[in-house]
Amino acid sequence: MITASAFSSLHDFFSSAAWRVTQSLTLFFVVVFYAATVFWVYKDARRRIEDPWLVMMAVILGIVPPFIGPLVYMLFRPPEYMADVRERELEIKAMETRLARRDLHCPVCRAEVDASFLICPVCTTKLKQSCVNCKAPLEALWQVCPFCETPVDSPSSIALGQRVGSAQIEQSVEDTFDAAAARRRLRSSE
Ligand SMILES: [Zn+2]
Ligand SMILES: [Zn+2]
Repeated sequence: MITASAFSSLHDFFSSAAWRVTQSLTLFFVVVFYAATVFWVYKDARRRIEDPWLVMMAVILGIVPPFIGPLVYMLFRPPEYMADVRERELEIKAMETRLARRDLHCPVCRAEVDASFLICPVCTTKLKQSCVNCKAPLEALWQVCPFCETPVDSPSSIALGQRVGSAQIEQSVEDTFDAAAARRRLRSSE
């Protein structure tokens, strides 16, 4: 008796208007959610993929199979946004130019100097030797002019080495050619 009445009330519920409303509401939400997943795939693919054909393929994958397609897309999508990749590339490029330029300063007065300067224009400290043949500015460590192959005879560095002492010179190549440090050492050895 009780089960029969339960069944009939269940049957009443399923044939009722309330059930029909629930059914269509559920269907509506499923369709909205489905459309949202497809739109999300489209939006995400456009930010990550440059090729419009590949973006279209991703959207098709988002459409069929429903719901599973977007999950598959999530597994195989490029890991980064194109904007992030571009930003990183710009950052690397900026860093490279910064390293290449490596702001040069006069060792005595710290004024900014160009790599081609032979003498500091502010305090007239001799920064570099010029090649005896082609007059190109030479780096302190160069044994030969890279522009005209003329051997570099560096009387100033030899004299410096003799006065300061070769052991100290070997201490630090960079310090040796830092004029300020060399001067300080000369003063202390005298
Ligand atoms: Zn200077
Ligand atoms: Zn030269």
